[in-house]
Amino acid sequence: MHEMALARDILRKIVEAAGVGYEVSGKRVAYVKVQLGASRFTHMEELKELLTEVSKGTIVEGAKIEFVISPVKSACADCGTEFKPGKKMSFACEKCGSSNIQLTSGNELVIKEIR
Ligand SMILES: [Zn+2]
Repeated sequence: MHEMALARDILRKIVEAAGVGYEVSGKRVAYVKVQLGASRFTHMEELKELLTEVSKGTIVEGAKIEFVISPVKSACADCGTEFKPGKKMSFACEKCGSSNIQLTSGNELVIKEIR
């Protein structure tokens, strides 16, 4: 399941960001802010439930996890034309016809804040 793999990824990132200090001192993570790209998940509620599930027995158990969602955006790598979300996923640049399209936003998984 896609969301399950993502939940595990997020948990791993949080534990990494917390560092060994937490485990050594027995401290638990109380709050995390995660920046997550919109292309990475489909069901946020399901993702949250899975995250609660996989964090059981870890330093992240019981933490308040807040998500900041980055919208999906892509741009032509050749001429720099940006494609706004909502438009059809096009594989050729509208301006120059290049097929060198790159995702510039929407794939993030970054721990912004942890305490
Ligand atoms: Zn272009």
